[in-house]
Amino acid sequence: MRTPIIAGNWKMNKNPKETAEFVAGLKGKLPDPSKVEAVIGAPAVDLQTLLDGAAGTDLHIASENNYFEDAGAFTGETSPKVLAEMGVNYGIIGHSERRGYFHETDEDINKKAKALIANGLTPIICCGETLETRKANKFGEWVSGQIKAALKDLTADQVASLVIAYEPIWAIGTGETATPEQAQEVCHLIRETVADLYDQTTAENVRIQYGGSMKPANVKELMAQPDIDGGLIGGASLQPDSFIELLHYQ
Ligand code: PGA
Repeated sequence: MRTPIIAGNWKMNKNPKETAEFVAGLKGKLPDPSKVEAVIGAPAVDLQTLLDGAAGTDLHIASENNYFEDAGAFTGETSPKVLAEMGVNYGIIGHSERRGYFHETDEDINKKAKALIANGLTPIICCGETLETRKANKFGEWVSGQIKAALKDLTADQVASLVIAYEPIWAIGTGETATPEQAQEVCHLIRETVADLYDQTTAENVRIQYGGSMKPANVKELMAQPDIDGGLIGGASLQPDSFIELLHYQ
């Protein structure tokens, strides 16, 4: 019932020329969209190139940041309204790199989620604990706290159609993946948190991704977990061959 969603999170790694070459190479290699939804997330400077390359294909495009206002005197910010007008489908928000390096708070992430939804984009809301929090065995309350704050004042219908990405910070870009059991435990807890905040139907509909050193070698066993509906993939999404392999994990 939940369509798996495999999303590349390119971060600040490609220029428009590389972007165009990459998407041209995906033509004819995307999975059946009823089986797996394919998404690429990139910074604002690459989005138009991605959209042009993806036109007429089943590839969906995600922004990696957006502001909460639609327009105005916010030098350098990315308007969610303009993202919608361009044809961008998803907005990645709350990534640990943005929380850490750019000081984004839970409140900012909630506002960004609302701005995306108001413009018809689907948020991909990231959450996840540090190694310290995991070692202290406090990851459950930490992650559910992040989710509660991010979803504040959203309706059940809005939550049912968005995506949550569980990305333990200690697994991002480190090569150290959470075990399938560790990832499943937290993804299940996120679903329970949504059920407590809303209801069982909303919890059963929301899609939950795992992110953190996901790659062709471990995608199958992670995706086999009952509460893991997809992946948010950094490093292993940067090479076309590896991204295509991830998309065809089934
Ligand atoms: P990684 O990044 O796959 O390189 O660990 C994941 C992410 O940060 O979304």
